[in-house]
Amino acid sequence: MNKFIRIPSVIFILGLTFTSIRCTNKPDHGSEEHIRQATSMIDDTYLVNADNTPENWVTYGKNYAEDRYSSLTQIHKDNVGKLGLAWALNLETTRGIETTPLVVDGIMFLSGPWSKVFAVNALTGKMIWTYDPEVPGKVGENLCCDVVNRGLALYKGRVFVGTLDGRLISLDAATGKPVWEVLTVDTTKAYSITGAPRIVKGNVIIGNGGAEFGVRGYITAYDALTGEQQWRFYTVPGDPSKPFESKAMEMAAKTWSGEWWKYGGGGTAWDAMAFDPELNLFYVGTGNGAPWDWFHRSDGKGDNLFLSSIVALNPDNGEYVWHYQTTPGDDWDYTATQHLLLSDMEVEGQQRKVIMQAPKNGFFYVLDRQTGKLISAEPYTYMNWATGVDKVTGRPIETDFSRYKNENRVISPGPAGGHNWQPMAFNPTTGLVYFPAHVNSFPYGNDSIWTFKENSRNISTPIAHLPTVTDPNSPTNMNQGQLLAWNPRTQKEEWRVDYPATYWNGGVMATAGGLVFQGTGEGKFIAYDAEDGKKLWETNVGSGVIASPITYMINGRQYVSIVVGWGGNPGIWVRFTEENYPGTIFTFAIDANEPYAGFYKTKPKELIQLPVSATADEITNGQILYTANCRTCHGKMGDNGGSIPNLTYSNEGIFGIMEDIVLKGMFLNKGMPDFSDRLTQKEVHEIKNYILHSANELRSMKN
Ligand code: CA
Repeated sequence: MNKFIRIPSVIFILGLTFTSIRCTNKPDHGSEEHIRQATSMIDDTYLVNADNTPENWVTYGKNYAEDRYSSLTQIHKDNVGKLGLAWALNLETTRGIETTPLVVDGIMFLSGPWSKVFAVNALTGKMIWTYDPEVPGKVGENLCCDVVNRGLALYKGRVFVGTLDGRLISLDAATGKPVWEVLTVDTTKAYSITGAPRIVKGNVIIGNGGAEFGVRGYITAYDALTGEQQWRFYTVPGDPSKPFESKAMEMAAKTWSGEWWKYGGGGTAWDAMAFDPELNLFYVGTGNGAPWDWFHRSDGKGDNLFLSSIVALNPDNGEYVWHYQTTPGDDWDYTATQHLLLSDMEVEGQQRKVIMQAPKNGFFYVLDRQTGKLISAEPYTYMNWATGVDKVTGRPIETDFSRYKNENRVISPGPAGGHNWQPMAFNPTTGLVYFPAHVNSFPYGNDSIWTFKENSRNISTPIAHLPTVTDPNSPTNMNQGQLLAWNPRTQKEEWRVDYPATYWNGGVMATAGGLVFQGTGEGKFIAYDAEDGKKLWETNVGSGVIASPITYMINGRQYVSIVVGWGGNPGIWVRFTEENYPGTIFTFAIDANEPYAGFYKTKPKELIQLPVSATADEITNGQILYTANCRTCHGKMGDNGGSIPNLTYSNEGIFGIMEDIVLKGMFLNKGMPDFSDRLTQKEVHEIKNYILHSANELRSMKN
């Protein structure tokens, strides 16, 4: 009798034990306990070895080298055609999305417009938590290029986000609740954060933007666990009558003239960073000058360090180690904040540790990342400001056309750059760097009666009374994009895909499956053959794409995700798709076949038709006021509108309440500024009638 009882009871006890072990080790997918366990693993060792866990994507650039190359091979050239929708999630936002999501153990973390943060179950596509830092709508006007955020950092159970109003916030990854928050900027100035923080040796490092609005750039490291400031590196010198913060600033100040510190100087580090744990060097890219033009900023003298530079710092104390300036005496908004990508490669028979960048100025640079010495630089896009880079001095060889002191000049590339923030990717097998390049230009002008406008744009737009000189050699289509497969050893293009509709396309990811993924401004998400650029798969994602895709694995299945949300600059005022849908995460897997009902057609927008009640002079004045105050976001009359509406297509209701919108901050929460400090009731009347008059003109041209 006893024997019969004992045997099953032992099994029963063992069964209980196994069940309880399973509960302890593997909590429910997406539960707080699961997220806590998964994100707690991410420490310094984990980050250094991020490539050992290709099922996850735990830092903005995939790893410290920022190569955005996944070693996952389940999705490859031969089966990529079978990719289908696994899930989609509407983020219920309408502004631009530039984020690279992070994934750890099947949990996705991403940022969105207004610095909001989302945690999503990457297996099911269900939202787990959202966090809104409640950025005041009025900071929207401090952004040159939409209320975007490019990404997050993960470390020891925490999620880190930089906010548009200059805060750095640490969240509990399991709950989305804030743990600490620090203010990283002087809020009386138009600083902003749109970039992803990076974690290096226990610190969370973040820069800022705002050079268009007259700020002084810097980058700061905070203890990731406490938020305590560890170091700060200024990228341009301050007032030389005050003590310099460092020897580097003392050196930099010798390259400036005039009273630059009154205008901030610029050099904001708003995007690219990379880290080499072996060399113990931290790399940061710096931005353009404030104001844009060299003559007003620095009397047209000096290189203006460290504008438009790649700077190597000691990550332990933020001290300067070396710099390479891509554009001395920047005059064109030629930031070097573009993607910094580390790799090792053979150069003239020698293995070199290199850092690569395709900054806005149009040259592809390969530098020795130990010393900062130039290895090679060649143009990757059309340019007329320089003919090459001097191999000995490392300086660009400028053309006579480059500076625009006494006439307006149409210079290439323009401020959108030959390449902007959209990430590149490097495949070590093909040895190619894949990146979205631009062909474009801009009519720069230098206002002789320029005065500094605090917290307003200080940029170099054409001056009405000066002649504008164009470039007879420029390509016919000066608004085109390309996906370039660039060989950094030969400094030559191996293949390219042309995007004649627009230069504004998404960032890139490369995989060991021999694939290159990219979304386009025309609303397509595409996989190319990494060897020759042949299109292997394409799907419609409705709206234009600007963000970069990622890939990861859950329970042995590989997924590819892209977050779609049209915007940025020019995406705020123009689009290249029929509709502009709310921001959405699309996730694909082989043989997945989920239905999607998120695309719908709206009625074609009609030009507004209301009586004009203003004189010709008032309309002319309205045009001047519109150009100065409205055009940067709402676009030219008759543009089709991007993530911000074009007013010639607004409805009657909007015109009825225009004064409340413009002078009473009625849409402040959407980022529409309150202009009561800049415009009068009469001036709003003139702007309104200029729009109505323009709509009439556009209508008669159509008919
Ligand atoms: Ca800029």
